[in-house]
Amino acid sequence: MQVGLVGWRGMVGSVLMQRMSAEKDFDEITPSFFSTSQAGQSAVPMGRAEVVLYDANNLNQLSEMDVIISCQGGDYTKRVHGPLRESGWSGYWIDAASTLRMTSDAVIILDPINGSDIDVALGSGKKDFIGGNCTTSLMMLAMHGLFQEGLIDWISTMTYQAASGAGAQNMRELIQQMGSIYDAAENELTLSSGQILNIDALVLDRMRAHDFPTEHFGAPLAGSLIPWIDSDMGNGQSKEEWKAQAETNKILRREENPIAIEGICVRVGAMRCHSQALTFKLSKSVSESEVENILNQANDWVSVVPNEKASTISMLSPTNVTRTLNVPIGRIRKLSLADNVYSAFTVGDQLLWGAAEPLRRMLRILIDREE
Ligand code: NAP
Repeated sequence: MQVGLVGWRGMVGSVLMQRMSAEKDFDEITPSFFSTSQAGQSAVPMGRAEVVLYDANNLNQLSEMDVIISCQGGDYTKRVHGPLRESGWSGYWIDAASTLRMTSDAVIILDPINGSDIDVALGSGKKDFIGGNCTTSLMMLAMHGLFQEGLIDWISTMTYQAASGAGAQNMRELIQQMGSIYDAAENELTLSSGQILNIDALVLDRMRAHDFPTEHFGAPLAGSLIPWIDSDMGNGQSKEEWKAQAETNKILRREENPIAIEGICVRVGAMRCHSQALTFKLSKSVSESEVENILNQANDWVSVVPNEKASTISMLSPTNVTRTLNVPIGRIRKLSLADNVYSAFTVGDQLLWGAAEPLRRMLRILIDREE
């Protein structure tokens, strides 16, 4: 199987390469590495033998591939996918970008949840398989059991999203902001007589200074937060907030009878784990322990964290979950707000299940079908 990798040196692409190496996916394929900016140059992708990079804008070179995996970004997909299809290419297109997600020809891939729909789509000749929004995929894996049981009436999701969701440059900027804050307060911090109000004033002056590094986020994130992610839908909702309901119901094939999912998406100073506080209503009264049982058994990655302080602090945090495929969910409690309304809190690495892993597993599904 000839597999073209586009965007492999970006952030999602690098994590994909790491996972493909770890799972020995490269043993099953003949990879070709493409670039939009370094075609013709040699490179050593993820410790592999040196290769010469193909031109990711060259339709002839792309059309040699049986499968193309793109982690390059939405502009690239817009520019290349249509002309490639129009040229007669009938290979499989697997993509991390959102561009094609909601088109009728494309399937949003999250195979622990919609694996059988993916099989049906392959059988019916579909060729475009697109990874879902990171927050949506992680929420769905955490809440899988309750979706499966058909118990959910609605969900409100308040997110705490990591810098990595905005790209590699943003992760760098977050650390630069942290360093800049520390530099401003360092002298006062190290003085045994240092006053907390002086430290606080130094930090705030630094964060409000014109040269504070905000080129990528457009605002301070370290020591602060940004309650808007992605573009403005013009109705008070951000695009990130819109995706949760639209994509969840497409994955569940419930567009005609959608589950309402609403909330506010917030960028916080975490590196690469998204967290979400969920409030949800079930269609009937279920005990907290039964909710925990249903969630715990739904897939291999979700696990319930007991709703008590020590376990929550140690297990339900970005620091604990980062660089793992685990999707813990905790803080499960029946709320006093109304009948059958519950809370939960979940954390997941947005570069793994949130981005690279569904693409890698889609490639595996194609490989397994070939065998
Ligand atoms: P990224 O880190 O900005 O990388 C994208 C491309 O930029 C690279 O593949 C590379 O392509 C080029 N590039 C230019 N200078 C580079 C440098 N110094 N180092 C590495 N690459 C460089 O983008 P990304 O965050 O991986 O996102 C890619 C796509 O995935 C986007 O559509 C995004 O919306 C989607 N997505 C992202 C996430 C996420 O969490 N970040 C989650 C789900 C989906 P060339 O080799 O062609 O120059």
